[in-house]
Amino acid sequence: KTVTPHRHGIHHAELDWRVDDGDVEAPFSTAYDDVYFSRQDGREETRFVFIDNNDLPRRLADWHEPRPFTIGETGFGTGLNMLCAWACFDEYAPAGARLHLVSTEKHPLTRDALERAWRSWPQLSRQAGSLIAQWPPAVAGVHRLQLDDRVTLDLHFGDAADCLSRLDGQIDAWFLDGFAPSKNPDMWRPELFTAMAIASRTGATFATFTCAGFVRRGLAAAGFRWRKVPGFGRKREMLRGERDESVPPASETLSSRATTPWFQPPPVMAVGHVAVIGAGIAGTSVAAALARRGSRVTLIDRAGIAAGASGNPQAALYVKLAIEPNLQSRFYLAALLHTQRWLARLDPQRQWWSDCGLLQLAGDDRRRQRFLANYDLPAAVVSASDPSHAAALAGIDLAQPALHYPQAGWVDPIALCHHLAATPGIALRRTELTSLRETQAGWQLQLGDGSLDVDQVVFATGHASHDWLDGLPLQSVRGQISTLSWPPHADADTDTDSASALARVLCAEGYVMPAREGKLTFGATFSPNDDDTAVREVDHRRNLDELARTAPALAGQFAGLTTADCTGRASVRAASPDKTPYAGPLPDTGCWRDDYAALGKDAKRRFDRPGSHYPGLWVSTAHGSRGMVSAPLCAELIASRLYDEPMPLERELIDHLHPGRRIIADLIRGR
Ligand code: SAM
Repeated sequence: KTVTPHRHGIHHAELDWRVDDGDVEAPFSTAYDDVYFSRQDGREETRFVFIDNNDLPRRLADWHEPRPFTIGETGFGTGLNMLCAWACFDEYAPAGARLHLVSTEKHPLTRDALERAWRSWPQLSRQAGSLIAQWPPAVAGVHRLQLDDRVTLDLHFGDAADCLSRLDGQIDAWFLDGFAPSKNPDMWRPELFTAMAIASRTGATFATFTCAGFVRRGLAAAGFRWRKVPGFGRKREMLRGERDESVPPASETLSSRATTPWFQPPPVMAVGHVAVIGAGIAGTSVAAALARRGSRVTLIDRAGIAAGASGNPQAALYVKLAIEPNLQSRFYLAALLHTQRWLARLDPQRQWWSDCGLLQLAGDDRRRQRFLANYDLPAAVVSASDPSHAAALAGIDLAQPALHYPQAGWVDPIALCHHLAATPGIALRRTELTSLRETQAGWQLQLGDGSLDVDQVVFATGHASHDWLDGLPLQSVRGQISTLSWPPHADADTDTDSASALARVLCAEGYVMPAREGKLTFGATFSPNDDDTAVREVDHRRNLDELARTAPALAGQFAGLTTADCTGRASVRAASPDKTPYAGPLPDTGCWRDDYAALGKDAKRRFDRPGSHYPGLWVSTAHGSRGMVSAPLCAELIASRLYDEPMPLERELIDHLHPGRRIIADLIRGR
């Protein structure tokens, strides 16, 4: 379904740099005519206003929950508040505790500006270094940064009220920052306070530097109690307060999932021991996400790690975004940015992945221009290249223009899956799941080598998921890749230096990777409803033909080679009917069809009943041929839900990934 064009690009902050007597430099917003923080004592002010007035030292010292303590903020700016909260967490919180920061920002700083601003605070250089290294490009939406093993930051780029009304998560303490209400009245509007009230956990508190009358009235109307307390330094007063549970959130229409109760998440359950079925990229990434949060994970696969569709030698970090942005393209763009950041943290040395860049060859100029205009993305994410520029980037002759994704590239999925499976807390069990049954305490699995009792189960079994997922529609798609020795004709008496090597991943109908370890990998075929994994000569032929169309200059270097020179591998990928992955709780299909049957007559019918789910059963599958991009973010989504954390995507995208969405779509279509 196409929605109104969603502009992904947002504008950076407009800044000036001001220097005080002590030679401390600080950013000043020329657009809002206001300071980001006080140059003399910004840290003390943050500590006084936001940290102490939310009582964080005491609350963090007492934090013993499996879920993280969660702070929400309205204007991230340089991140001074959030990084001070992190420092406070490090100082006071017990060893097993975690911290989750959620901050909105309409006009993010550039990375250079961020770096410059942080020179003022050398005491926080460790925290700032982690932030700067992962700083996302100016793209609207949610960016999850893993600041360290215990601290997560979700940056929601966009207007604060808009972002918080799409937040799927609950906050323990709010930092109401943002420029002074008199200079930025748009941000401090009633919708912001309502969204905050809806996203507040029981006992949530807030603090803000301002005492403006309309802020007090707005907070009270949305259901917050406030009181004036002494302000910092020369400021006479500020506000602090808490959510007043006796007042329901002001607007019912904003309340989470009032019109889509089927997507209401199931209640939180024990997370001590989780079984993950399937050790490809979907399974290993979920297992690692859960183990990092403290679960004991048994990773079960009858064929071992990365034996199925995740077992190719190289996989492209590639997404083909629809020309008109829609929910699916928004998800894939978020997933691409997330995976790039996630890989850079997992393997900073680029031992088994490469951000060499990727060129998507695109013939039709008009469509390419429309794509670029619709998305309005920064060049750090994607830009247009004419044929000569594309050829210079690729390192081989190209006749077509291209879209250039400078930070995309390829990953060695086998190495990645092994790396993930080695996360402390994960035990691999190479055996088959034969059945499972619900018990008082969770689930009992019958395995080829015995039984296993766990609290919850995640299915990440690709196309083999059919057996377990209560009729979830899935299609098998066979894909074969081909490889040739590189450099070409290495055994002949040729000067191998003359071979022009491909420097970036090249994608068109097929793809070809930069050569690695003496092999050039290209492919892949796409054969729906075929689950045979034997390598076929006819598929090598197809791949060679496609290579000749995509990169004739490269294919030309292999003149004389035939399918007999190719080696390859075939595997079966799973796809959903709408080609979006399934990530979330497993719906009870029969209950959904009964409970929401009236949708067949009236698609706008309202229901109160939340969707029935199999308690403790979860799914991450239908990643098609894009699993390297989609699975890591889906893993975060599932782990965040199990641990009752804020979600790493806007609510509508979480719902778009929900495994039950097809049931509702079918009911509405009268199927
Ligand atoms: N907390 C910040 C820090 O520690 O550096 C300082 C915040 S600065 C005073 C205010 C921030 O709010 C700016 O970065 C500004 O771009 C952002 N902002 C302004 N209006 C906004 C809006 N409507 N939604 C989200 N962010 C907004």
